Amino acid sequence: MKILVAIKRVIDANVKVRVKGDNTGVETANVKMSMNPFCEIAVEEAVRLKEQGVASEIVAVSIGNQQCQETLRTALALGADRAILVKTDDDVEPLGVAKVLKSIVEKEEPQMVLLGKQSIDGDNNQTGQMLGALLGWGQGTFASKVEVADGKTQVTREIDGGLQTVELSLPAIVTTDLRLNEPRFASLPNIMKAKRKPLDEMAIADLGVDVAPRIETLKVENPPARKEGVKVESVAELVNKLKNEAKVI
Ligand code: AMP
Repeated sequence: MKILVAIKRVIDANVKVRVKGDNTGVETANVKMSMNPFCEIAVEEAVRLKEQGVASEIVAVSIGNQQCQETLRTALALGADRAILVKTDDDVEPLGVAKVLKSIVEKEEPQMVLLGKQSIDGDNNQTGQMLGALLGWGQGTFASKVEVADGKTQVTREIDGGLQTVELSLPAIVTTDLRLNEPRFASLPNIMKAKRKPLDEMAIADLGVDVAPRIETLKVENPPARKEGVKVESVAELVNKLKNEAKVI
């Protein structure tokens, strides 16, 4: 079966994000960018399904600017077979991304679309669910285990207070949670090989999809600075402060 993996390029998880001076967003100029960590997990899962003989082809797709090519090359080095870059210099909201992915799905006809549960920049947690709704496919979100057999997939989901296993008919949408797997590192030979793997590019306009924003960001602000703490000398003093100053007990 063919698996489509959606990959977002985001500010690297180790970078301390800075809010722009005019409060319109966060600084992205000269900031290290990487593959969204949940998307790395999605690529890893697709590669494992291919190694098990379940998947036959992995197509990585990203919607973003020209630099997303780099991120797609990483996916190719990790084991994707080919990649598609849908180019735009604008920020596309989850609904727009889901519509673009739907259009790619209609062309590519995968049996499974793997996405991260969430992008760490927008923290939206929406794209997979919206894609599921647009396609009318079942979805297994927050996956911590994925098994495929007999035209169906069993997805174990991380839910409050435990695990839930759902069975979905293929084609289906799966979004990855943190504990699904530990992504591998790309080896040097695979990085070299990735340079020769096919990477198609198209403009968002070529797909005829309406990605006009529905959401306006009014303001982005830093969280209030934390007040300095105090050291207490004894448990009794701590209890006293919690009771009489913080009034939390
Ligand atoms: P979000 O709904 O923004 O939290 O993103 C959830 C997942 O949707 C990500 O982990 C990606 O798999 C996918 N996704 C979101 N934005 C993009 C994008 N611009 N290009 C490709 N995939 C995306």
